[in-house]
Formats: sequence, structure tokens, C-alpha cells
Amino acid sequence: MLPVFASGCLGLARLRWDGRSVPIDDPIWSRWQAEGRLVQFCPEVAAGLPIPREPAEIVGGTAADVLDGTARVLGRTGTDLTDAFLRAAELGVQQIRQHRPALAVLVDRSPSCGSTTVYDGTFTGTRVPGRGLSAELLVREGVPLFTPATLADAADLVQRAETASPG
Ligand code: SF4
Repeated sequence: MLPVFASGCLGLARLRWDGRSVPIDDPIWSRWQAEGRLVQFCPEVAAGLPIPREPAEIVGGTAADVLDGTARVLGRTGTDLTDAFLRAAELGVQQIRQHRPALAVLVDRSPSCGSTTVYDGTFTGTRVPGRGLSAELLVREGVPLFTPATLADAADLVQRAETASPG
């Protein structure tokens, strides 16, 4: 059975910056839970960031720019959180290499987990296309990314992958 990697805060675990979880109510998710297929992981908490914590955004570029050292991750009050977010992303890669999942289902808009959209670094709630740091590294590891809104597509990919490599 191929594992599915997922953001730790999806479901009940209150890991988000504001001390909340991200509810998910989908039969595909419930089936994966029952199968024991899910590997859930929160890179930010794994890296030692507290709950709750200051909201953070990528400022001055993209996740790739942060990885290249030309942009930063800042908290709303200006705290430089770049090193913690880089460590968080590396820990996510370690999980991927350990579990070798078929894909990842990530909470969008997070500066770590965002896979299609992030905030623009102005702390005004403005969204732009882009990825968080963890998501960026998972793409570089070759992991297909999905969001809770695209679970059906994710389930199709899992099924195709298991048909191609039964057992
Ligand atoms: Fe959820 Fe990812 Fe944020 Fe952790 S880093 S709280 S898993 S969105």
C-alpha cells in the first residue's frame, strides 16, 4: 500500500499558527485513514516553532528565492524566521525519503505547505500563485502535490500507481 503524505494540521490536530486545525470531511480522506495510509507531518512544529505562533509570509520573492538566499520568511512583526522555515522544509524531505509516498496532500496558502497559492508577503491577505518552502522541496523530490480540494485526482493517482506496481 502506497503511503499518502499530508499536512499534519489536516483533520483534528491543532497545529496551525493560530492553534487551529484544518477540518476535512471527505470520504476519500476517511478511507485513507481507515486503511492506515496517511503519514501526517507538520514541518513547522517539527522544526520547533510553537503553537500558537506568529503568522509568517515569504517576503521579497518566492520559496525558490528563499532557498537561494535572496528572499526571507518573516513574521508579521518582522521577526526573521527564515532559518526555522528552512529547517522545517528539510525535515519534510527527510519524511518523504523515509516513507516514499505516492503523493502529498498539503494545506494551501501556508508559507510551508502551500502548493498552489501563498500570501504575497505584505500581510494584507493578498494571495498569489506560488508554493511554500516545504512544498517547493517536495516538488524537487518528485512528489506530486494536491490540496484538500483535489482529493479525487489524488485518489486516481494512488490507484493508478498501485495498479502499475501491485503489492
Ligand atoms: Fe499545517 Fe503545514 Fe502549517 Fe504545519 S506547516 S500547521 S502542517 S499548513
